[in-house]
Amino acid sequence: MKKPFLSLDQLQAITQTYPTPFHLYDEKGIRQTARNLKAAFAWNPGFKEYFAVKATPTPGILKLLREEGCGVDCSSLTELMLSDKCGFHGHDIMFSSNETPAGEYQLAEQLGAVINLDDFTHIDFLKETLGYIPETISCRFNPGGVFQLGESKEGFQVMDTPGDSKYGFTKDQLFEGFKKLKAMGAKRFGIHAFLASNTLSNDYYPALAGILFQLAADLERETGCDVCFINLSGGVGIPYRPDQSANDIAAIGAGVREQFEKILVPAGMGDVSIYTELGRYMLGPNGCLVTKVLHFKHTYKEYVGVDACAANLMRPAMYGAYHHITVMGKEDKPSDHTYDVVGSLCENNDKFAIDRELPEIETGDLLVIHDSGAHGFSMGYNYNGKLRSAELLLREDGSVKLLRRAETPEDYFATMIFD
Ligand SMILES: *Cc1c(COP(=O)(O)O)cnc(C)c1O
Repeated sequence: MKKPFLSLDQLQAITQTYPTPFHLYDEKGIRQTARNLKAAFAWNPGFKEYFAVKATPTPGILKLLREEGCGVDCSSLTELMLSDKCGFHGHDIMFSSNETPAGEYQLAEQLGAVINLDDFTHIDFLKETLGYIPETISCRFNPGGVFQLGESKEGFQVMDTPGDSKYGFTKDQLFEGFKKLKAMGAKRFGIHAFLASNTLSNDYYPALAGILFQLAADLERETGCDVCFINLSGGVGIPYRPDQSANDIAAIGAGVREQFEKILVPAGMGDVSIYTELGRYMLGPNGCLVTKVLHFKHTYKEYVGVDACAANLMRPAMYGAYHHITVMGKEDKPSDHTYDVVGSLCENNDKFAIDRELPEIETGDLLVIHDSGAHGFSMGYNYNGKLRSAELLLREDGSVKLLRRAETPEDYFATMIFD
């Protein structure tokens, strides 16, 4: 059973000060997740998690992760600026973008970030933009084809199609690219790849590591380039559904270590650092969207209307994603009602849940929509003139800190020109 990280009493106290809807994050859970990840990779002295800023671009969250020793993975100008403002500098910033404007490379270089190139043509583009190639450089690899893991009767436990994705160098381009970058002055090289998203499997990272470690050994041998780090990127998933089980990060770390000792150590590359860029795994379960029940509608279905909408959490509307819902205070009541839980957008996909079995809901009930901590608030938008909600942090001592105020109509009008 999925449990909220706070009680009804705590939540009611919070709503006295902060009106719904809002996103709420759990400091204790975030710190614990960061520490578990660090422990799982403690065997690798250079290990570092670069938190994917796009998942939760909130200063209070980024600073907390910095305290836990994380860096940041940025993909845009404003994410770089945000990271700078939050105290991340130099190689604590990874810049993994694509179709990158010149100004973004310039800022990344100015901040001393590690630049992760998405394409072969960006080698010349970077040289023209900066006037030189940085000594430390990373390239994103795309093996093409289909990435599959663990066949069972129900199909593959992980399956994704890198061949259809716009990211990364082909293998041939990577070999050419490394030679070219070396000739242009690069000295320390990294390899990055993101082959599958939201994987619920302890085998994804080890399988990816196996591919990248072998590639790194081949690259060093053939090009003479010094591969210093291998970035496993994001993709470790979370159990959105209550019947799914969570990944075991310790087992994942041990699985990567096994590949490391099998492939890199014999190749004389035992000093390579492992990097990750997890977003969802770090923050997803450590945040929720809190909303209040406003209305009921009995037509061809039973609708529960809430004060949040897809503009606050887009995943159900966009991907048909499941987000578990707890009716606060009714955790022990039988789920003997079937509802569609809907927001107020003029869009029929604005449904947090369809045909969901829940306890009987009443007006004024507080609903916790789980696992919104990553790719939740950050994917928000202003459609229908909806304003972005506040973000709050439940501190370890039980107090609540405002991380971001809710937007006001003035924010909405700020960019409009009336005359
Ligand atoms: C989105 C993204 C991540 C984070 O992905 P998660 O699924 O949240 O772990 C990491 N790296 C890059 C380059 C990304 O685009």
